[in-house]
Amino acid sequence: MRKISTFSKGGVHPADRKDLTCTKEIVRLPIPEIITVPFSQHLGVPAIPNVKKGDAVERGQKIGDAAGFISADIHSPVAGKVLEIKELFLPNGMKAKAAVIEVDQERSALTGKIENDWTQMDPQEMVAKVKDLGIVGMGGATFPANVKFTVPKGKKAEYVVINGVECEPYLTSDHRLMLEKGDKILQGSMMIAKMVDAKKIIIGIEKNKPDAMDNLERLIEQNSYPIEIQPLKLKYPQGDEKQLLKATIGKEIQSGTLPIDIGAVVSNVGSTFAVYEAITNDKPLIERVVTVSGGAIKNPGNFLVTIGTPIQTIIDACDGFSETPDKMIAGGPMMGFGFYDLQTPVMKGTSGVLALTKKESIKGEQSACISCGRCVQACPMGLQPTKLYKNIKKANYDTAMAMNLLDCKECGCCAFICPAKLPLVQSMRLGKRMSRKKK
Ligand code: SF4
Ligand code: SF4
Repeated sequence: MRKISTFSKGGVHPADRKDLTCTKEIVRLPIPEIITVPFSQHLGVPAIPNVKKGDAVERGQKIGDAAGFISADIHSPVAGKVLEIKELFLPNGMKAKAAVIEVDQERSALTGKIENDWTQMDPQEMVAKVKDLGIVGMGGATFPANVKFTVPKGKKAEYVVINGVECEPYLTSDHRLMLEKGDKILQGSMMIAKMVDAKKIIIGIEKNKPDAMDNLERLIEQNSYPIEIQPLKLKYPQGDEKQLLKATIGKEIQSGTLPIDIGAVVSNVGSTFAVYEAITNDKPLIERVVTVSGGAIKNPGNFLVTIGTPIQTIIDACDGFSETPDKMIAGGPMMGFGFYDLQTPVMKGTSGVLALTKKESIKGEQSACISCGRCVQACPMGLQPTKLYKNIKKANYDTAMAMNLLDCKECGCCAFICPAKLPLVQSMRLGKRMSRKKK
């Protein structure tokens, strides 16, 4: 194992609260009677529905066609009948079309698995499978995986870096996957290396997951896999590509460039497992592991959930709430999105569902900026959050853009550390939206 490392600029140390679920094995939830499958579950333009009310669908059937380069196909997670195509609000505030499907439980049951031998497949065929089966980044960014795995002409991938960091507090789904599906994740990593023609594979894991590191190390040794484990110090937002690459390969992505510009392709653990299942079993991205946690959940846990399952169903699987939650979040507490409607469906990017108590979500009274500079120290992108906030507040969007507002990852480090409890991340989001609108 390599020497422990981390990134250098900024970062914070929120309490991780992973103890609530890190020992909870992944439990498969039954498919509900009705599911709702949004056509926008990825970065980029929504997919275009190719089914209509009354149509019968099969499990794994493509029901939405990718509508652009940065878009992804959508598949039906079940067999059944389309009841309607409706519009709904997603936790990120976007409105999207969705297929409401009445489930035929018998026809949706899991059947025998296809077992393709990936070592006999050529890289283009593998990338095509990843595209056709709608695989996207599952750590939250939901970037279409086939785009990542297509190295542009003139560029060269030297490293595949697997993101096993899971630095968001509460979330443990990747941790559990590394413990329970370790060999498949390692094989998925080698598949990605084959697709992008990279020679080095490194898995970055924070040191609060020693059991996951040990498990992967053991499997690597047993099978002589050409993979290295890079232990990392605990620091948020180490799971971001920029910080992860600095911590694992010591190289930094410059503003406006991509990992491939420094010879790297990054994939998170959940996506790597989905890549394995797509290539080996021809399985589309129709289910995922979700951590359900927070002080207001009676029995927190990790669940394998059919995409489109209402969040209410997974809350019920945890025996409901122990108290009325003060805040519901889809994703982690630092970068996730607050939502109210418990009928909101689980999507490809739903890494967690959190029900936080008042004590956990307490923000405190907002006051004026005291110019302490803590947000500047904490910003991993080297920005000046306080100045950006003040300019956005005054609608000086051009000035904010000139101060590299677009480099903001919305990681929340500045808001976390701010003693004045200013809504810095919301302000960055507003600034970006208004600048785009103006453009
Ligand atoms: S949210 Fe943006 S401005 Fe704030 S710390 Fe993160 S990158 Fe910096
Ligand atoms: S941390 Fe908050 S109070 Fe301190 S300078 Fe930044 S915005 Fe102002």
